[in-house]
Amino acid sequence: MSLPTLGFFGGTFDPVHCGHLQMALAAKAHLQLDEVRLLPCHQPPHRATPQLTSRQRSLLLGLAVQDVDDLSIDTRELKRDKLSWTVDTLRHCRKEFGDELSITLWMGADSYSGLQNWHEWQQLPQLAHIGILQRPGYTVPKVGVLAHWLERSSAANIHQQPAGTVVALKQPLLPWSATKIREQLALGVRPKGLPESVFNYIVAHQLYGFTETET
Ligand code: ATP
Repeated sequence: MSLPTLGFFGGTFDPVHCGHLQMALAAKAHLQLDEVRLLPCHQPPHRATPQLTSRQRSLLLGLAVQDVDDLSIDTRELKRDKLSWTVDTLRHCRKEFGDELSITLWMGADSYSGLQNWHEWQQLPQLAHIGILQRPGYTVPKVGVLAHWLERSSAANIHQQPAGTVVALKQPLLPWSATKIREQLALGVRPKGLPESVFNYIVAHQLYGFTETET
């Protein structure tokens, strides 16, 4: 029996960039998922406070996906005014959707490598599958529990079980990172890898300290 499939691509999206969009689309296409939602976090537990407010980051996300039919935004973490623990979000989803839905939590290899720092990380595969996307400069763990989870994985399970498998995709690599993009914007440099609509909004509102320099 094949289950309906939903993917979540979580992130701070400070700001959203083409790497996020392409990764989410690659996950959807490679595994033929029914739906993929970008999941912006409100207060990231494992990193510095975002430069933009939740409202600004979700507004930029809205601009980025407005012409992308295959992606949507799930704002459930923004509606809870507290730390965005992924395990809580997935429990919330299970309450809403039940067990007859396959949910995959997608993340870059950098995020997967740090998964053991996440709150109640051992519970995650009981609530969702985990999908890992390659990221330049990062490899998935080769030893330990996270490597073991990967060894047992089978992509077919994503269509047959609600949760429990860990898969790594070998999709084309994209170099962009939000940190680099913020650094370039602060220097008045137009970064590569931002959707046009997102860049235009950043310029119009001088976000990230961006001011156009004379050429
Ligand atoms: P920063 O550079 O500040 O770490 P980021 O670009 O990683 O930011 P996030 O919002 O923190 O952006 O990332 C959301 C998710 O997207 C994470 O799981 C991250 O691994 C993944 N991701 C971001 N950029 C890429 C990329 N170029 N390739 C693969 N995965 C990526």
